[in-house]
Amino acid sequence: MFPPLDELLHECEALHGHICPGQVLGARMGMLGCKLIGIDDPRGTDRKKLIVWVEIDRCMTDALSAVTGVRLGRRSLKYFDYGKVAATFLNTETGRAVRIAALDSSRALADARYAALPSKKERQMAAYREASEAELFKIECVTVDYKETDAPGRPRTRLTCTSCLEGVNDGREVNVESGEVLCRPCANGAYYTAATFPGEQANAV
Ligand SMILES: [Zn+2]
Ligand SMILES: [Zn+2]
Repeated sequence: MFPPLDELLHECEALHGHICPGQVLGARMGMLGCKLIGIDDPRGTDRKKLIVWVEIDRCMTDALSAVTGVRLGRRSLKYFDYGKVAATFLNTETGRAVRIAALDSSRALADARYAALPSKKERQMAAYREASEAELFKIECVTVDYKETDAPGRPRTRLTCTSCLEGVNDGREVNVESGEVLCRPCANGAYYTAATFPGEQANAV
């Protein structure tokens, strides 16, 4: 079972570097998500059954990771850049999954219910700690596109991109019409472009 919320928030603070409303919200979301899919001990006996998809790279994500033990580097944490305070929790043993999104109305609720507190941060901290799950979250049952090549463990496949010659794990390559195998950036464009720093040769590092 989960330790009390205050204890979890100490662990969140240690990982994240500060305590903030996002930590409280993320901790509560993590506890709720696990509960709804029948995961009692995500950092212990159930740790191999849980996969979490997060939809934002902000404070909440660190709290989710602290509370549930999921990690990007273990493939138990997946990241989609949707800019939403939301996450999906999958029990890989049962296939049950729920998506939980924080309700924007919780901000107004914080201001109304804790109007006596001087700062927005304090009002949100109090509200996210005390409000009911229904006041804070939208919850839906979902199915998730989760394949063998998304699972933790050793890479299932590794191919070489015929353009950049870099290795590509777990089926992330693209098979183009010419029969070639390309990595995603070579096929679809990358988030980076090659650059030359002033006074240096191209590609010299
Ligand atoms: Zn924060
Ligand atoms: Zn490539």
